[in-house]
Amino acid sequence: MSTAAREFHLRRHPDGEPVPDDFELVARELPEPADGELLVRNRWLSVDPYMRGRMSGIRTYVEPYALGAPMEGGAVGEVLASRADGFAPGDTVLHQRGWRDHALVPAREAQRLDTTVIPAQAFLGALGMPGLTAYAGLVETAPVRDGDVVLVSAAAGAVGSMAVQLARLLGASRVIGIAGGPEKCAYVTDELGADDALDYKQGDIAKRLRAIAPDGIDVYFDNVGGETLDAALGSLRLYGRVAICGMISQYNATTPPPGPRNLVRLIQTRAQIRGLLVLDHYGLMGRFVEQAGGWLTRGAIRYRETIVDGLESAPQAFIDLLLGANTGKMLVRL
Ligand code: NDP
Repeated sequence: MSTAAREFHLRRHPDGEPVPDDFELVARELPEPADGELLVRNRWLSVDPYMRGRMSGIRTYVEPYALGAPMEGGAVGEVLASRADGFAPGDTVLHQRGWRDHALVPAREAQRLDTTVIPAQAFLGALGMPGLTAYAGLVETAPVRDGDVVLVSAAAGAVGSMAVQLARLLGASRVIGIAGGPEKCAYVTDELGADDALDYKQGDIAKRLRAIAPDGIDVYFDNVGGETLDAALGSLRLYGRVAICGMISQYNATTPPPGPRNLVRLIQTRAQIRGLLVLDHYGLMGRFVEQAGGWLTRGAIRYRETIVDGLESAPQAFIDLLLGANTGKMLVRL
């Protein structure tokens, strides 16, 4: 028996900011699972900023989305039928065949989730790829040391909200978050426990950062690039560490953005800037889930989600994510 499914295809490469017409919802019939496959009814889809790069048609560290083919991305769903050992109908699985309501998933690409304590969708956010990104950045790429002053940008988002909290739990003496708007800044201080929050939309980030942290910062976890990166470099202390995790201020750019203007700070401070790619750090996943899962169940880590309902809402959820409509992880619920 076949299963009626709907999936998003990329219709064309977005020019600047993506628009709904760049995406197309396509109906198809899925055959029964073959040997080693699962038929999964997706319940949660992840939309993530890195997907913007995959929409550009250029190969980076992941294959670009092919035009006219189903898009991929993190998803959590329920197994409806299994032809693989170790999986049974009713299991909840994490996999990469998102942007669709039903999927045939090779069992080797699926991970069975224990959702008795942690809700399933947290494995797309706080305890999933974004959480691991924050952890890897602060443990391996720009390691936090006891007493450090840590600065995090996009601090109210999925990665940033975890980075703010993990920085403190990993020994920072002071954590400063940067986010867009007063509500997000209040969330960063009042709920995530940062000592200060800076609203980058108020302008002159460098001057205001110097006022908040007159003695400088030791670690900068960068999610945005651009002027904020310049400001952070300007405030680096001796032997500072910078994790370049994301450059969301530039993802929709149609002309090359200007480079950092103050790299001379690296000479003055002997600081280190390092790129971070979460794919390199999945070896940490077990340790991360155990440690952060413990903090989460004890209430030492909090997380929020911005939830949009319905498969047809997925493109708009993605567009809105790039515009900052989310607090915490942006999710589509099916
Ligand atoms: P978020 O949940 O943080 O959502 C994106 C946020 O970016 C928005 O909410 C918005 O918040 C902020 N933003 C948008 N435009 C700008 C801008 N021009 N300047 C400053 N902030 C902006 O997304 P994620 O947590 O999933 O991802 C955060 C970053 O981490 C992204 O850059 C992403 O690409 C990167 N990343 C990198 C990984 C890696 O392996 N290197 C893995 C996962 C994520 P606001 O309202 O505050 O502007």
